[in-house]
Amino acid sequence: MAEQDEQMAELSLTIKSRFKAAWHLSAAIQSALDKNWHWVDSSEAIQNHTEAVTDLPHLADIAFMSAGEGMMVMDEKGCILSINKAYTTITGFREIDALGLTHKAMRDKDCDVWRTLQLNDKWSGEKLNYRKSGEAYQERITLSAVRNHLHQVTHYVGVFSDITEAKHSQNRLQELVNHDPLTGLPNRRLFTELLEHAIKRAEREHHEIALLFVDLDRFKSINDSLGHQVGDKLLYEVSKRIHHTVRDSDVVARLGGDEFLVMMDNIKSIEDAASVAQKIIYALQIEFHIDSKEIFIGASVGISIFPKDGNDVEGLIKAADIAMYQIKNRGKNNFCFYSEELSKNAVERFTLESELRHALARKQFEVHYQPQISLLTGDIIGAEALIRWRHPTLGLVSPARFIPIAEETGLIVQIGEWVLRQAAKQAMAWISDGYTMQWISVNVSGVQIMRSNFYDTVYGILVETDCKPQILELEITESTVMQNTEFVIDTFNNIKQLGVRVAIDDFGTGYSSLSNLKRLPLSKIKIDQSFVRGLPDDLNDAAITNTINAMARNLGFSVIAEGVETNAQAEFLKNMGCEEAQGYLYGKPIDAAEFTKMLETRTQKYQIAGN
Ligand code: C2E
Ligand code: MG
Ligand code: MG
Repeated sequence: MAEQDEQMAELSLTIKSRFKAAWHLSAAIQSALDKNWHWVDSSEAIQNHTEAVTDLPHLADIAFMSAGEGMMVMDEKGCILSINKAYTTITGFREIDALGLTHKAMRDKDCDVWRTLQLNDKWSGEKLNYRKSGEAYQERITLSAVRNHLHQVTHYVGVFSDITEAKHSQNRLQELVNHDPLTGLPNRRLFTELLEHAIKRAEREHHEIALLFVDLDRFKSINDSLGHQVGDKLLYEVSKRIHHTVRDSDVVARLGGDEFLVMMDNIKSIEDAASVAQKIIYALQIEFHIDSKEIFIGASVGISIFPKDGNDVEGLIKAADIAMYQIKNRGKNNFCFYSEELSKNAVERFTLESELRHALARKQFEVHYQPQISLLTGDIIGAEALIRWRHPTLGLVSPARFIPIAEETGLIVQIGEWVLRQAAKQAMAWISDGYTMQWISVNVSGVQIMRSNFYDTVYGILVETDCKPQILELEITESTVMQNTEFVIDTFNNIKQLGVRVAIDDFGTGYSSLSNLKRLPLSKIKIDQSFVRGLPDDLNDAAITNTINAMARNLGFSVIAEGVETNAQAEFLKNMGCEEAQGYLYGKPIDAAEFTKMLETRTQKYQIAGN
């Protein structure tokens, strides 16, 4: 009996050595194995199951050979003694190639694998390995030590599976979770993680990090006018340009929409950040060619510095965002560092924005009118409608302050429509009261054209107010034309069919091309006040106004000069051949009641130089 016991123990040990590590084997074999492992301790059980036990070596071989995982038995030094079929299937090495070799995981005697095996008898992990063909593959491997009754390691058993595919899917998933699918750049989530690490390191090593918040100028209107496909391609090209502009060690991420972040770790001075911001702006200023269209955009960059402007991810991004907004308000295409002062402005702006949302319903807007004069006769020939916001605590707020907010929030669509309606009604009222007014000019924002059915709005208002189309003049700025050329040209060609007049405002400031202007149904060009200011002494301003005037006349447009404040300016303009003017010299913008009074009381024509 004792001899049989000893035999059984030895047999069990062999089985154990082969199978203890292979817990993943088929359930049937595993349970048979488990049962037999108990039999070792029970001579009674051995008696009862002699038959099953006699079958075990055979069963073990089947299991070993047919397992889906690669298996190998190694001696105490890690040299391979036997392998199964799956080993060959996965690695390409046949038994003859593998015998006597050491598996890659066991090769480095000092490594964690050996230490863990000595301590715990078991090690599992993932390793990169190579097939016989030289192709790399990823394996998940479990190594177990087999000990004899003296507790000495006699063998190692290794079981491994090929997880290359799974790993690939996992990596792909990671990539999807952490990267922006459009540009392939890290997304907010990954960027946050990277910035968190960088902040910890910077705290330890006492260095600075710069965070650049890049927001594209005019992206929304490009997306609206040229379509999302073009918008997406543009974002991809933008991401490439930003990426090429920064160092390899800087991290570029896409926050979403047209917002990008750049993290510059370990900057030497804040000038480094300024110079990179400038480079990004230059790079994005160069025209893009997408689907054979030339597209111009720009970028506004806000910069925050760790630890000065914030000590966590959220604080730093917010500070850079506030700085970026400052640039948007100041005319875009530039960069700006965060400061406490900006933070105060941002709070003010936010308050203004929420109040602006209610201003229309609370009837806080007014339309003021500024006279437009004939330089030939001195008569008032028209008026420009200019919106004012009568704020309950701030008093009259200038449009320069709230129009950009109204544009960004889209509120300009309703506000602009309201101004148009008021102006049309007022013009008709003056005309029916017998005042001679040739037209009333109303400013139209690019956002109104892009984000609403502007033609329908104009048509609706003409019908509703019974306004004669020819007394309505719509002013669009040069930059509106340049940003969405085709769409603007189409819209205004339709509007022109209604009989409405179209003028280009702030001319000379927007780099518009003559070829585009020729395609617009223009009646008039308004020379920007910045060129009128220096007249008559500033030679540059004189040359510019002269050129604009000559060019406009060649194209058949009439010309009006804005911002005329002195008689000398008026005289120069008149001598130059300009026929119309508008400015403080003739009258500041005033409300409708005052303007009516001015029309009533004005018996004397304006003093016109030379008259
Ligand atoms: P703009 O259309 O170029 O209007 C001319 C601006 O110059 C007005 O400023 C006017 O008050 C001012 N101005 C007129 N004459 C003189 C002068 O002799 N000297 C000086 N220094 N300034 C003069 P305001 O009313 O503050 O409007 C500023 C801008 O806000 C306008 O520039 C226009 O772009 C925009 N805006 C005004 N009302 C509306 C509106 O109803 N809709 C839209 N979309 N924009 C508007
Ligand atoms: Mg205007
Ligand atoms: Mg203007």
